[in-house]
Amino acid sequence: MTTETKNYDVLIAGQGAAAFAAGLYTARYQMKSIIVGETFGGETATGGLIENYPGYSEIDGFDLMMKFREQVASYDVPILDDKVSAVKKDSNDFQIETESGEKYIASSVILGIGRERRKLGLQNEDEWTGKGVSFCSTCDAPLHRENIVAIVGGGNAAIEGAVLLSKYASTVYLIYRRNKFTRPEPVNLKLLNDSKNIIQLLDTNVTSLLGDDGLNEISIDKPYNNSTNLNVDGLFIEIGADPRVEIPIQLGINLNEKNEVIVNNEMETNVAGILAAGDLTDASGDLKQTITAAAQGAIAAKSAYTYVSNKNVGG
Ligand SMILES: Cc1cc2nc3c(=O)[nH]c(=O)nc-3n(C[C@H](O)[C@H](O)[C@H](O)COP(=O)(O)OP(=O)(O)OC[C@H]3O[C@@H](n4cnc5c(N)ncnc54)[C@H](O)[C@@H]3O)c2cc1C
Repeated sequence: MTTETKNYDVLIAGQGAAAFAAGLYTARYQMKSIIVGETFGGETATGGLIENYPGYSEIDGFDLMMKFREQVASYDVPILDDKVSAVKKDSNDFQIETESGEKYIASSVILGIGRERRKLGLQNEDEWTGKGVSFCSTCDAPLHRENIVAIVGGGNAAIEGAVLLSKYASTVYLIYRRNKFTRPEPVNLKLLNDSKNIIQLLDTNVTSLLGDDGLNEISIDKPYNNSTNLNVDGLFIEIGADPRVEIPIQLGINLNEKNEVIVNNEMETNVAGILAAGDLTDASGDLKQTITAAAQGAIAAKSAYTYVSNKNVGG
């Protein structure tokens, strides 16, 4: 396989479960591999305690990702903290550029770049992230002992988040724009309804974030206790996530109606030589988990190996 500096058999974009698992397998296939990922560990690393990754009855997501990383690094696969900003196909290979200005050439690319959390689109939302606004209840719930907090959303992540927050905060407002939660897991719904300090505000939207140099109040569009303002120490936004499609769109990769990258059972996209794995894809439907992302990374690696081997023999 290739030997020149910065020429790789496979470039793997991402640093989450899909990317690290892919890197482990491409290394074991003796492909010249490189991992380029923006943030170490992806969603798993910030997701808090993991209780459903086989082999561990419980493990912190950050620690699990460290184990993934260390295992890949033991095969001498370079792992770079950088963001892939462009991927272009030339007649034979892929040209990859990163945010820091690095350029690579690779015979194949595995995309494991996951999804971006959705935002409310309100003024100060970005500026006050970390100053009262949070996108990760599992990460930041312990910061709110005896506080009053609100959480926005109506899916499982929001319900789980509200239940978790209720263990720390004195009061939790769970705010959802519809009048019924979206396909909640029965176990979570029971925990929610059993909780004594979660106030459910349905048919309600957050309309503004108020404060001086950080959040201390929100406005809502349906009065609660005759007021459309709530004093809060924190606001958690758990309204879903969208696949990161900038690079897939650059490459002309087919997406489904949810904007997920369409892959076949081999994790192949419609662009030969581009594989995709994990939360970015439609591969596991709604079951977007660390184990499914890792498994898909392994399959993508095998497919990259087959693709590059066939190419090298002129197949
Ligand atoms: C709060 C929360 C709790 C969760 N709890 C669990 C749980 O208990 N058990 C479980 O199995 N799953 C859990 N999950 C789901 C699990 O975290 C995801 O399914 C998993 O992280 C998906 O892995 P991934 O590699 O596909 O994507 P991600 O983990 O999202 O990783 C994507 C990676 O790509 C990087 N990236 C993005 N753009 C670029 C770019 N342009 N160039 C290079 N790199 C880029 C990111 O920085 C990141 O490193 C949880 C998720 C959340 C949000």
